[in-house]
Amino acid sequence: MPGLVCHFHADEWSPGVRQQDGTYAHSCDRTEGHPGGGTWHWLKVPQPKEVAGLTGLAEELNLEVELPAAVAALGEGWWEYGLVERSYAECRPEGWARMVRQWGHTAITPKQYTASSYLAGTLGRLSRLAVVAYHPGVGTGRWLYNTDISWWSTVARRLEPKDSLGRRHRRPTRGGTHGRRGLPRVRA
Ligand SMILES: [Zn+2]
Repeated sequence: MPGLVCHFHADEWSPGVRQQDGTYAHSCDRTEGHPGGGTWHWLKVPQPKEVAGLTGLAEELNLEVELPAAVAALGEGWWEYGLVERSYAECRPEGWARMVRQWGHTAITPKQYTASSYLAGTLGRLSRLAVVAYHPGVGTGRWLYNTDISWWSTVARRLEPKDSLGRRHRRPTRGGTHGRRGLPRVRA
């Protein structure tokens, strides 16, 4: 079911671009009226059919609060998915352990649907509610192999994108390069 209206512009309709996993990536290109200014991105994530009680576990673990908190714990700016997952696992090890028990982890066994899929999907659902901010990009550091990765930010603190070392850089784009590591750090 593609096609959604921007959270901040009732008259802006986004058709969405279907991703490999069935998620639709949406954006509104208007530069006024979004948190932090600039384009607003969000995801429409399908409910995984093979997982029963999905809503129940997310509610039980209070992910609507805990995941934005895990993003906020990383600080201001944009964070790639792998860092958000690690932050959540450190902040709420018991919650993360439950997800890994239920779905496994790609680091343990290669599977189509893992605890990471669940956590990323839940972040995607939160982006649909504008609880966290999302934009597509590429991985850095140990996630450099991943050329199609999600980046996350808390909405209230939305600032310039930063990489995993906290350096500012321009918003990563799909298929972009990584020539920015040598940039000097610029303080806000
Ligand atoms: Zn908009």
